Amino acid sequence: MKKTLALVAHDHKKPELIHWATEHKLELEKHALVATGTTGGLLHKALNLPITCFKSGPLGGDQQIGALIAEGRLDCLVFFWDPLNPAPHDPDVKALLRLCSVWNLPVACNTATADMLITSPLFFEGTYKRDIPNI
Ligand code: PGA
Repeated sequence: MKKTLALVAHDHKKPELIHWATEHKLELEKHALVATGTTGGLLHKALNLPITCFKSGPLGGDQQIGALIAEGRLDCLVFFWDPLNPAPHDPDVKALLRLCSVWNLPVACNTATADMLITSPLFFEGTYKRDIPNI
């Protein structure tokens, strides 16, 4: 069942995300992929898969992905944020992670969680219905 996945990595984490995505290319190509600008460009180069690229994170890309979540148009976020280096757009990063909690969205912030998420039949076979805010 086709899902929409967002992929984002901060600069020091980009090699890790590219490595992860390359390892999981066969799973990823079954889904629609979106990404922040720089991450998306690098992933497209590495995977040669179609990826919808938003603005770069510091220029609003995180918020564009947040908007997808709020509109119910995203199914999963792989977000390798960097816990060891400050980001100029830290408020946006927090806002994005906050929306994942608000909307009960599956989010992986490290390789181990991303491995489990991308291979989970619960999520990708389409049987799992997540609760979302009742508004
Ligand atoms: P980038 O943005 O992919 O444009 O580098 C990622 C981020 O900093 O959130």
